[in-house]
Amino acid sequence: MAKININYNKLAAGYLFPEIARRTREFQEKHPNMVLKKLGIGNTTEALTPAVVSGLIKGVNNLADPATYSGYGDEQGNKKLRQVLSDYYSSRGIALSPDDFFISDGAKPDSSNIQSIFSSDSIVAIQDPAYPVYVDSNVITGKAGNYSEEKGEYDGLKYMPCTEENNFFPNLPKGKVDLIYLCSPNNPTGAVATHEQLKKFVDYAKNNKAVIIFDAAYSEYISDPKLPKSIFEIEEAKECSLEINSLSKFAGFTGVRLGWTIVPEELVAEGTEPGEIRNLWNRRQSTFFNGASNIVQEGALAVFSKEGLKESKELVNYYMENAKIIMKGVAALGITAYGGVNAPYVWIKTPGGISSWDFFDKLLSETGVIGTPGSGFGPGGEGFFRLSAFGHRENIEAAMESIKQNLKI
Ligand SMILES: *Cc1c(COP(=O)(O)O)cnc(C)c1O
Repeated sequence: MAKININYNKLAAGYLFPEIARRTREFQEKHPNMVLKKLGIGNTTEALTPAVVSGLIKGVNNLADPATYSGYGDEQGNKKLRQVLSDYYSSRGIALSPDDFFISDGAKPDSSNIQSIFSSDSIVAIQDPAYPVYVDSNVITGKAGNYSEEKGEYDGLKYMPCTEENNFFPNLPKGKVDLIYLCSPNNPTGAVATHEQLKKFVDYAKNNKAVIIFDAAYSEYISDPKLPKSIFEIEEAKECSLEINSLSKFAGFTGVRLGWTIVPEELVAEGTEPGEIRNLWNRRQSTFFNGASNIVQEGALAVFSKEGLKESKELVNYYMENAKIIMKGVAALGITAYGGVNAPYVWIKTPGGISSWDFFDKLLSETGVIGTPGSGFGPGGEGFFRLSAFGHRENIEAAMESIKQNLKI
């Protein structure tokens, strides 16, 4: 008799975005003439840039010609792209071998797939609030235990609260943990870890033989030169960290799909030699994955061309200008807001201390603006609300205008 993976049944009911969609639909049915302004899901909205489009077309043309056609590529990714990535990090002062880079179809799949190379009884620490994928993928792979309705937590996970008091960067875990998910710039809080903050975690990880899974999906949104864009800017981080990134937020590849995971040769865990963990990830990718699309990898190479980098930075600046408009708008209303400076998310404290979902309903009904309730990112997000800077300028401006005119606080 086939049995299903019952861990799926442990996932807490009402996944965030479907619930937002349900409430939005219900509202729109009752108010068909109201134009809704979406600042909710973290999805890119602006077109691919010309250099990237040329790269993708080149990829298609290569396949259209028997002389340049290619079938399966290396599971680890196009050699040239791995070299280009290695050079890109090197230009920022980080020495990594092209062999440390594994090209994939995105940071989200990598952030869950990476678990397969670590013991299934690993104790996992996550920031609270956090990108929901970290928790849910650990639940599905049986590392999270049961969900407690009362606490809003899984009993097998170590939650690391990110609060106003600690500037939304967690204190070190109490006791020993094995895997630590860190995301900076952070989704949803928009907080960016400093060198010193990351150093503390690197020291902890080294002392406890833990591994940091560092999600740098928003690294290109950092404009402050003092803030680290990669965990590998921290001394000795290569011995205890791996890093995940993608072109989704940097170059609008959310639908195109291209990411990478860096597993430095130096990385070690309990009882392993340098190189062993990298080999395991290589084995995992070679077995379960057949490489990223060759068309898309041509597009990725174009992102790292001189033109491509310039255009992608302009794209990031466009979204960050949106973030400024949001920050200015909420500040004018006296709402306390965080993030929004080196990250495309504005993390607001709900006015009057109302719950995240109550604020969602209030904002929707009074202003037609859709955001994301903080509590959907974990119990630590309760009382907060995320506004996303991804959107067309007109939409962001209309949303902020409506909030200014119509929100009753
Ligand atoms: C958007 C996002 C990603 C990107 O995932 P892709 O699969 O590369 O599109 C990864 N991590 C976080 C925290 C994100 O918000």
